Amino acid sequence: MKNRLLFIGPPGAGKGTQAQMICNSNDFCHLSTGELLRAEVASGTDVGRKAAELMSRGELVKDELVLQIVRTRLDCLSGGWLLDGFPRNVSQAASLDQLLADINQQIELVILLKLDDSALLQRLILRGRDDDTEEIIANRIEVYHQKTAPLIEFYTSQGLLEVVDADGTVNDVNSRIKSIL
Ligand code: AMP
Repeated sequence: MKNRLLFIGPPGAGKGTQAQMICNSNDFCHLSTGELLRAEVASGTDVGRKAAELMSRGELVKDELVLQIVRTRLDCLSGGWLLDGFPRNVSQAASLDQLLADINQQIELVILLKLDDSALLQRLILRGRDDDTEEIIANRIEVYHQKTAPLIEFYTSQGLLEVVDADGTVNDVNSRIKSIL
């Protein structure tokens, strides 16, 4: 079974939910940069203050800050792990490769959770997080297409990418992911 994984996909595809389920049932460490950043914002740290404004607009937080946060959680990469929401652009992917090389590890599998834009919009409006207003959602989807979607080619060319249809119930999608792992 593969146990060093990345989940990529647009906002609303269910990365967080699916990552949590996979990590709980396999005892993987779940590293979500979105969750870590929200925790920094909530505790009012320096990093949180720098990230908050960009997050509230649905823009990506600066690579440097994100990497700083990931580096504080390298303990997470000692056994099985699943990175969710990171990397978010090709430059972060290159930094991740470097960071993993330094600790003699590599990604085994990248799962793309795929869902079309209209379904994403509907799901996110129902979710209702602070950054889930219609205007900010539209921006996050746009940012995904511009900055994150190039990772599909990046990981396909390395033979690492598997695409999972993210439409359907949480359990449907979970079964599809399990069958790939
Ligand atoms: P998420 O919980 O993954 O949807 O992330 C929520 C927000 O946190 C995003 O809209 C970004 O502003 C920020 N964020 C999370 N992960 C990253 C990342 N890897 N790079 C830049 N910004 C990020």
